[in-house]
Amino acid sequence: HTPLALAIMATCGSNCCDGDFDKDDVTTRTIESCLPFPLPDEILEDIVPKAKDFALLHGAGMRYKNKYDADTLQFAPFFLLPSGFPRREFERVVKLQPIINILMHKIAHDHEFLRSALEKTIKVDEFTRRLWDIYTTVREEGVAQDMSLGLVRSDVMLTKCQAGCCELCQTPPYVTVHQVEVNTIASGFGHMGPISGSMFRCDYFYSVPSQIAQQVEINTVASSFGALAARISLMHRYVLGELRKPELLSHLPENDALAGLCGGMISAWDAYGCPKAVILFVVEDVTYNICDQRFHEYEIRRQRPDIHVIRRSLTQIGQQGHLTSDKRLIITCAPAVSDYESCPAYVVLFRAGYEPGQYHTEAEWEARLTVERSKAIKSPSIQYHLAGTKKVQQEIARPGILKKFLSDSEAKLVSQLFTGLYTLDMSPEGDQAVQMAVENPERFVLKPQREGGGNNVYGEEIRTVLEKIRDSKEREAYILMDRIRPPIQQNYLVRAHQAATLVEVVSELGIFGTILGNAKDIQSSKFAGHMLRTKLSSVNEGGVAAGLGALDSVFLF
Ligand code: ADP
Ligand code: MG
Ligand code: MG
Repeated sequence: HTPLALAIMATCGSNCCDGDFDKDDVTTRTIESCLPFPLPDEILEDIVPKAKDFALLHGAGMRYKNKYDADTLQFAPFFLLPSGFPRREFERVVKLQPIINILMHKIAHDHEFLRSALEKTIKVDEFTRRLWDIYTTVREEGVAQDMSLGLVRSDVMLTKCQAGCCELCQTPPYVTVHQVEVNTIASGFGHMGPISGSMFRCDYFYSVPSQIAQQVEINTVASSFGALAARISLMHRYVLGELRKPELLSHLPENDALAGLCGGMISAWDAYGCPKAVILFVVEDVTYNICDQRFHEYEIRRQRPDIHVIRRSLTQIGQQGHLTSDKRLIITCAPAVSDYESCPAYVVLFRAGYEPGQYHTEAEWEARLTVERSKAIKSPSIQYHLAGTKKVQQEIARPGILKKFLSDSEAKLVSQLFTGLYTLDMSPEGDQAVQMAVENPERFVLKPQREGGGNNVYGEEIRTVLEKIRDSKEREAYILMDRIRPPIQQNYLVRAHQAATLVEVVSELGIFGTILGNAKDIQSSKFAGHMLRTKLSSVNEGGVAAGLGALDSVFLF
């Protein structure tokens, strides 16, 4: 391959992006694993139980979903080895995170932008309209708390570098030629050349076109897995150590997601300076992802023994919460914390409240309104929640919009993360997008205004859904997005009570960020760690709880 590869390198000049390679062609969409697969059976038999024990004993667990038992934990499904991710792209998205935080913060504080982005959506999407109503109520009565705490997670997937991306790839996009080995002695045939005066032979192989990261979405509410991600990173360090591969550890970046996110909550608490205040976690009726949530609580306690965390569902807040005349949020506390009698909750973290099913009755909506009206610093505040909707994300991606919120150079960097996003409103532009999607459904993802996975529409079903609603305003509840085709790799999926299986997978990297500030001032905007979720390449969405996706960490190459 060597002469051919070099010839392509040589002829691929500045116009190298003009070709017509097929970005959906699977044969060129692979990433090598960090160790040669398959692993010998005797190695697997040794390492899998060790990895499971590590996960269990470090709390990388969840509660049983199908057979709920509050007293029992199971390790969360995970991949045995870290999955490959290009270092250049990892560093790029890490560096961008503070800017993305600021972008979300500014959007959340731009009423006119939110209004125009969401005005059509809220006419047809009941859930978004209810959030909007809360926002309007709070705005009209005067915001009691002008500070917001953003704990955001920007999710990206890799895709093949295509026309226009050369600046990012910094290599010709068609073919990246990786050097496998440099032989300095007894070099045989091949490309000959001098390195430090000695003769060498480079063995090249045809590899994937350069991969670049593209954003799947930005989460501003209930960004989860910060704690478990850090534990899986540790497990992969342990596994590589047990496999006697310590030299690979330098490919595994540190992951302080838990400390970073909790640091964000603590700085919000400090911004208040009220020693009696608690941090209130708004949780589901039943929390399956309990380890992830509890570790946040314990980490806050570890960093700051003086801060108390309480957990309440929206239903409980409806029963136990009220506002004082000066809008402090008071939660009637259980005996264990009766010192506080009733707790002024000055920081509120929503780990629930992002999906309609979590509002059983009007009481839960009332509870949400009570929290939003209060003086507590919320993560997210209602405007941050709205800024994280899929519709707003699509509107941000319109040409010229980023420049309203960021400097020209920052806007350019962020825009390089975006893939095609299309409005489906009742305009000629929307008509065109509908047409495009109906003609080529496999190229797109159809997204409603929902969070938490499992809500998007793919493939043939896009056609079915759009054909039903193409002439009605109902389509304005959705947005359309280019489908990202990430590179495929192999890894061993480890699930409870099942043999580890070598499967073909794709990964999604989440970058956490924290930001604290009000409309005028931003006190801090930070990168706060990362997480990797990997799923079977054959499924559209692989929820960790559903068992089709699993926790993973990055192996930078
Ligand atoms: P949610 O807020 O429910 O997590 P996402 O936009 O993240 O919504 O979509 C859920 C999942 O669907 C993602 O984790 C990813 O696996 C898949 N997905 C979403 N958008 C795309 C896309 N543009 N291309 C490929 N897969 C996508
Ligand atoms: Mg989301
Ligand atoms: Mg998501």
